[in-house]
Amino acid sequence: MPTPPADRSAHLESRRAVIPRYYGSLDFEQLWREFPPAPDYFAACYRDSRESLHKLQNERFLAQMRRAWQIPFYQRHWKAAGMEAGDIRSLDDLASIPPFSVHDLWAAIERNPPWGDFMGIDPAVDAPLPLVLQTSGGTTGLPRPMLYSPRDREVMNIITGRRLYMQGVRPFDIVQVMLSLGLPNGGLLAREGIWKYTGAVPVMTGSGAQTPTRRQIEIMRAWKTRHLVGFPAYVRHVGLVMRDELGIDPRSCGIRSLIVHLGLDDRHSLEALWGARVYDTYGTNECGSLAAECEYQTGMHVFEDAFLIEIVDPETGRPKGDGEKGVIFQTTLFKHLAPLVRFNSNDISAFATGACPCGSHHRRIDRIHGRADNMVKLRGTNIFPEAIGGLVSENAGANGEYVCIVERSASGREDMTVMVEAVSAQVSRDRLARELVMRFKEALGVTLAVTVVEPGGLDELTGLSITSKTRRLIDKRGEART
Ligand SMILES: [Zn+2]
Repeated sequence: MPTPPADRSAHLESRRAVIPRYYGSLDFEQLWREFPPAPDYFAACYRDSRESLHKLQNERFLAQMRRAWQIPFYQRHWKAAGMEAGDIRSLDDLASIPPFSVHDLWAAIERNPPWGDFMGIDPAVDAPLPLVLQTSGGTTGLPRPMLYSPRDREVMNIITGRRLYMQGVRPFDIVQVMLSLGLPNGGLLAREGIWKYTGAVPVMTGSGAQTPTRRQIEIMRAWKTRHLVGFPAYVRHVGLVMRDELGIDPRSCGIRSLIVHLGLDDRHSLEALWGARVYDTYGTNECGSLAAECEYQTGMHVFEDAFLIEIVDPETGRPKGDGEKGVIFQTTLFKHLAPLVRFNSNDISAFATGACPCGSHHRRIDRIHGRADNMVKLRGTNIFPEAIGGLVSENAGANGEYVCIVERSASGREDMTVMVEAVSAQVSRDRLARELVMRFKEALGVTLAVTVVEPGGLDELTGLSITSKTRRLIDKRGEART
């Protein structure tokens, strides 16, 4: 047998030097004391007073600042604004830190491909860590990558478990996850969190491209699914296929909760269709779940031991009062890789007012009203496609599917056409169009054109049956990167 050349065996030797093991990379007991999983969390941190929460947040925030100062992205961004390490002495100084947005992340990736210089890990010098990569659900170009360290990922799993527990998931329940599997973070994070921290069983049917809708329904009925996790458009689509094409009443399936990113979609019609409670959630690929509704559905409680949320006026940068809409700034309190400090998410929300009957003092955001960069300014009025979707799903003659097309005429005037699907061929398209034109005018103060098409007629434009992230705005004035 030929002996391998010396340089080759030396190469193999160096490659096998250290292989990091996931379960040896973390002190789990310590982590669970810091970030208690369900149900312990609900007897502990969830009931904390504002004072003790503030103290905990202050400690974690200062630790997160120390970590961020080790990362080239923040060194550059903050020094350019005249900041020095040590300037920030407590949480009270948060508002003096310059924010950043997704455009800064893209610029960092272009400067330092492929991950940008905000991760805070360098394979050339750092000890190996077991890493996992997921992405944003970007619809144009390459999706935006995010690496997670074991601790980052495990905190996100714990929080996923907490929110599902809040929303009624219990051991042995079957939870059908109808989110895209693969690159986007949502689906696989749901699997990890359900499996590790709820005792329930995740069934990963994925989007309609992974498991066709009729097969999703067969599985749901045969295996007695109790909870659905997905985007509301697809959850509604599955219910309507069941009711209108298969002649099965979705309320007979025994589904107890619909765990969705509700946004402005119509809660009432979705709850009536399935005979189940709808729970709203806010999450991103960088952070996992940041906030979720409890059983009282009074807005989404922020997981404040892990995140600071600010709601800020997008023009002046000043904080908004309770009940006032602004953009969400996110600051993480646990992340080792790519910590976020005042990340302008571009998502629009408002802090909910009043106390929640569940007794938690954790702040709540009311709902996600849209994305600031999705906003269309039409003849002086700000319009969010998400708000249009909410109005479409209220009308029983429509099936909730829609897409908004913005165009500029030769004279420079901007117009929007809303295309919607009728719920069935029996619906009068003219009448539905007239009703929606009136409803848009009444609710938004602007006249929009409406075109009604047959059920499924917008599939190619929205991508509903192949992806869980449906397209709602087609801006023919020039594409923007998400
Ligand atoms: Zn509550």
